[in-house]
Amino acid sequence: MSGPPGAAGDAPAVAVVGGGIAGLAAAWELAGGGAPGTPGTPGARVTVLEADGRLGGKIERRHFAGRHVDLGPDAFVARRPEAVELCQELGLGDELVTPAETAAYVMAGGRLRRLPAGLALGVPTRLGPLARSGILSPAALARAALDVVLPRHAGAAPSDAAVGPLVAGRLGRQVVERLADPLVGGIHAGSVEEMSAAAVFPDLLRAAGQGGSLMRRLRPPAPSGAPAPVFRSLRGGLAALVDHLAEALGRAGVELRTGCEVRRLERRGRWVLDTADGAPLEADAVVLAVPAPRAAALVAPHDAGLAELLGALSYASVTLVTLRFATGDVPPLPPGTGYLVPRTGGAMVTACTWMSAKWPELARPGDVLVRASLGRFGDDRALAMDDDALVGRAVAELTPALGLRGGPTDAMVARFPLAFPQYTVGHLDRVAAMEQAAGRLGGLALAGAALRGVGIPACIASGRRAARSVVGHLEGPGWR
Ligand SMILES: Cc1cc2nc3c(=O)[nH]c(=O)nc-3n(C[C@H](O)[C@H](O)[C@H](O)COP(=O)(O)OP(=O)(O)OC[C@H]3O[C@@H](n4cnc5c(N)ncnc54)[C@H](O)[C@@H]3O)c2cc1C
Repeated sequence: MSGPPGAAGDAPAVAVVGGGIAGLAAAWELAGGGAPGTPGTPGARVTVLEADGRLGGKIERRHFAGRHVDLGPDAFVARRPEAVELCQELGLGDELVTPAETAAYVMAGGRLRRLPAGLALGVPTRLGPLARSGILSPAALARAALDVVLPRHAGAAPSDAAVGPLVAGRLGRQVVERLADPLVGGIHAGSVEEMSAAAVFPDLLRAAGQGGSLMRRLRPPAPSGAPAPVFRSLRGGLAALVDHLAEALGRAGVELRTGCEVRRLERRGRWVLDTADGAPLEADAVVLAVPAPRAAALVAPHDAGLAELLGALSYASVTLVTLRFATGDVPPLPPGTGYLVPRTGGAMVTACTWMSAKWPELARPGDVLVRASLGRFGDDRALAMDDDALVGRAVAELTPALGLRGGPTDAMVARFPLAFPQYTVGHLDRVAAMEQAAGRLGGLALAGAALRGVGIPACIASGRRAARSVVGHLEGPGWR
């Protein structure tokens, strides 16, 4: 790419559409992220255009019951490096925190049962802890045990298959209903019956392809030393990541335009972005870091096939209800961060997080904060309910589970439409086709949760990858 940093007239312009974590990570990469004080290493003028009045997308905090509470995401997995690395690049290494508790529960047979040791995502790998957990009926436990003796069935490994049937074939239906679906499906608010193993659980696909016992093949190696934290967040909540990232982007010369929906994307030699704030932007390259239906609408005039692929991606909507109870109304909760609810019982609550037990900085004497998640793919009942009805429903379902003795003193409802893209079988092939089609448009790249992972680290990775892809285009011959 030509043009020395600061020579704004010559520098190529890159527009990042969408100021969620993927778009912000793309902008950070474009601004020479990780090398503070080097504004725009590639020499590009970078503008982030965000429709909402604030940055962060799904990551948002609100003031509730005298403290700042993350509304949606409140942690990221530490197993993948991207989020921790970004925090370190922003100088936030010392601000990283881990949940105070690690155990979690599942509602099974009308009671909360602690998840057994040795789970690989949602697949049990050791019979002893599984038996002691009481999660499976005796018959289902006996069926799961057949995994170690069933014939091997090795064959050509499929390039993809649905998670649920792969697990059910070796371990039985109840393992799917009570463990795999709440845990693996729950990450995407979807059903493992259609969910792509290649996209969400590649180790399972590999193990199934090798044949033989899934439990043995997926068993994690015995831990050596203290276990590494599974989840991490930041002091002040995950939303602090967005605050710090936005500040650092501002310092690096990135323009951050909020309240600026991109309504149309035109090609007049350069890309021209028609914006809601009436100030169109010309750019040499564009990163589209918006949910798939929004990206579909923007690319439709340029590639109908790409728009169709993006538009075909289904989404689950979810609603989170945060509740504050007086301590006296909540019996002591078992040690842990919360519980999951299998879809088979017809409940609307899919999970409950014990926020003030999980994050010590949210704990106050005299109250308990819990958060219920409602809705999953195929269950949109919450969309038709007003906030009071949702709070009532959440409390009605939490009361028997937690033994609540009174109602909440405060409640907050947060709705997330287009919350979780559904990665069905063949998803990664379709994503590869989307990325190729976007690349053919010249200086356009896709990013975000619709592609290769919904978690924060995966979204950061996708933003940075999209940024590198447009830089590659700008560095190539004849981009102007
Ligand atoms: C309730 C909930 C809880 C979650 N919990 C966790 C968790 O604990 N840990 C974890 O790792 N992940 C979690 N996730 C997943 C993760 O938060 C998301 O997948 C991720 O934040 C998505 O980031 P994104 O940048 O791809 O998209 P988004 O955050 O959706 O950002 C896209 C942005 O684009 C903007 N936009 C859309 N159209 C336009 C347009 N035309 N012009 C300009 N801007 C536009 C939107 O306003 C939005 O700000 C959770 C998700 C939800 C919904």
